[in-house]
Parts: sequence; C-alpha cells; structure tokens
Amino acid sequence: MAARAESTVLAGARVVLPTGIVENGRVSVEGGRITEAGPAASSVGDTTGSSGATAPGTLDLTGHWVVPGFVDMHNHGGGGASFTSGGADDVLKGVRTHQEHGTTTLVASTVTGEMDFLAQRAGFLSELVEQGDLAGIHFEGPFISPCRKGAHSEALLRDPDPAEVRKLLDAARGTARMVTLATELPGGIDSVRLLVEHGVIAAIGHTDATYEQTVEAIDAGATVATHLFNAMPPLGHRAPGPIAALLEDERITVELINDGTHLHPAALELAFHRAGAGRVAFITDAMDAAGFGDGVYQLGPLEVEVKDGVARLAVGGSIAGSTLTLDTAFRRAATIDRLPVTDIVRAISANPAKLLGVDDRVGSLEAGKDADLVILDADFAIAGVLRKGEWVVEPQPGR
Ligand SMILES: [Zn+2]
Repeated sequence: MAARAESTVLAGARVVLPTGIVENGRVSVEGGRITEAGPAASSVGDTTGSSGATAPGTLDLTGHWVVPGFVDMHNHGGGGASFTSGGADDVLKGVRTHQEHGTTTLVASTVTGEMDFLAQRAGFLSELVEQGDLAGIHFEGPFISPCRKGAHSEALLRDPDPAEVRKLLDAARGTARMVTLATELPGGIDSVRLLVEHGVIAAIGHTDATYEQTVEAIDAGATVATHLFNAMPPLGHRAPGPIAALLEDERITVELINDGTHLHPAALELAFHRAGAGRVAFITDAMDAAGFGDGVYQLGPLEVEVKDGVARLAVGGSIAGSTLTLDTAFRRAATIDRLPVTDIVRAISANPAKLLGVDDRVGSLEAGKDADLVILDADFAIAGVLRKGEWVVEPQPGR
C-alpha cells in the first residue's frame, strides 16, 4: 500500500537539523535511510546512486518545512482503537492514524487494569514492538494515587510493590520503556530503583507527592514527569509540590500535552521556559477518539464521552486523555505559543527519542538514521510523512 521512496531527494525546503534551520536544504533518502541532510550546496553524488539533476523522485518542496518524524512516548490509542483493549488490527489502525499525523515512533500506553490483564496485554503488545510497529510499552497505572487518579479506575489502583512492577516488566519481555507511578506511596522509591536497574524510565505522575517527596524520587532515579501539571497538586507558594521539584531539576524531562485543554498557554510557557527546550517532551496522551471523532468510548473499564474533541469521564467529568495528534501540538506550539521551530523539534522528536534510547535511529535528520520525516506546509499543516523510507502521506505535487 505504502509507496516506497527508493531514492528520493527532498529539495528546496527549510530543513530543521540538529544544528539549526537550513534554508533551501536538501534531504536524500535511500533504502529506508537518510543518506544526506544539509544545505543544497553540500557535496552530492557519492551516495544518491543515480545521475544528477534528472534523478527520479526529486521533490521540489519550496515553501515547506522538513522536520524529523515525531516521537510520542505517551499515547493510549487513536483512529477509534485503544492500545489497552484492541486486537492487533485495531492497534495497528491506531498506530497508522497517528503516523498520518506525523508520529513515526510511538510508545503504546496502557491504563489501569487488573494485574493479570495488564501482564497479558504486555505480552500481546510486545509482539507489535518486536515487529517494529510500536517503540515500546508504557504502563500508566495501576501504581498511582487514588487522590490523583484522573481517568483511572479507583478500585483497581494499588501501591507500587516492586515484585508486581517486576511482573509487568517480565511480561513485556524487554519492551517496557516507561512506568508512571506515584512515588510517594509505600514501595514507590524501591520501585523507582527497580525500574532504573532494568533500564526502564521511572515517570512521576498521578501523584499527590510533596516537593520533598518528589526530590527523593528524583534522587532515586526518576527521570520523567508524566503530563506535568495534570493529575498532581497545583503549584503553591508555601507548598510548591511536585511541579516545582520537577521543573527545577536538570535530571527530569517534563511531558506536556499541548492541546489547549490540558494546559493553558501560559502554563505551557512557564514550563517550557523554566525547563528549557532540552527538557520538554510533547506527548498526546491520546485516547481512541484521536483522529476519529466525537462519541462514546471505553477507557479501560470506564466510559468516556468525547464532545468537541474534549474527552471526559461519563461519571465525574474528569478529563480522560486527549484527542490530540502531534501535528496539532506542533502547529499550536508554532502559531499560538510562538515557540522557535528548532525548540519544537527538540520537544517533539529529539528529546523523547533520546529518553527512549532510540536516538541512534530516529529523532533527528542525519545521514545514517531511519528515513522518518515530516513535511509541513507554510501553515504547519501536514503535507507529507515518510516512515522508514515509505510514504505514509505522499506529498501532492503543486500543493
Ligand atoms: Zn495517559
């Protein structure tokens, strides 16, 4: 189905490289890899294979941006499908939906469920990781605080017992990349240490921790703040809570959901500027309705109503994930938050790729890396998506 871009040259676009923006840049792709990314005037001809100006597949992208494919490390579903409950076809449909919106690397997130169910689910998802459709598994819950449960089923929450954390890691057969937990609960700090020992990201979230308790968890090895601001005590001037601890510490990367619902633009700006562009990861926290539409959905055992793109629990009205896709997060960041495009690219591609340990393959436009890239038009709308050298969204000439 996908057209393979055997030997494609993308020419004339503004290309975002790790070193900055190149006007009239050039990206060459061959056999699923990037062979060249730089200014148009750089040396060519040694790797592009065919001869010169009439090489097949040269695309004139004047007026467009070429940026690295997006990396989403926190995503529960899309296209009408849930990563917690759908079958293989459903999960792949959700993955495909997000790919069409520019996400070429995606970690599937589960929501709180029975331990046996989650273990079984981890085994199932691990096969999709091994096939290369997913970049790993993120367990969000059940080891979270009932005080900050959000859209997680309270009856199924439990304290973070390291033996149980271990059970999920084993079930995921080396594909678990992140576990979100409330580190202030009994067993929380020991569980952080266990995750670090196994090379899995310990993410602080759905937490009721104090500032001091959060510092203790960071010292134990936690490195990510799960959707900063959401599902944690608000910033207070006498009791600054987790937000201040997470923002100030150089060891922490903060996840931000830039959909305009989860965060006020001023909160996003505060976080972005305090942490700096090197310590922010844009995520979707998307649920089934992302890229699909309004309606009634299931999030684990709970019913969710999506109206005007905002997902809320049918009972209680708590925000229940987002319907965000990362192209929208990018466009908001560029047009509403007015962040520099180079900073957005760090937050949406490079930083999460590094955290996940896949930055040798993805996260930036550099020779030798996977041909994962997004073409955006001048208004930051998707004009093309290339994943491992295959067009997910093929650019239309003359647009
Ligand atoms: Zn989530």
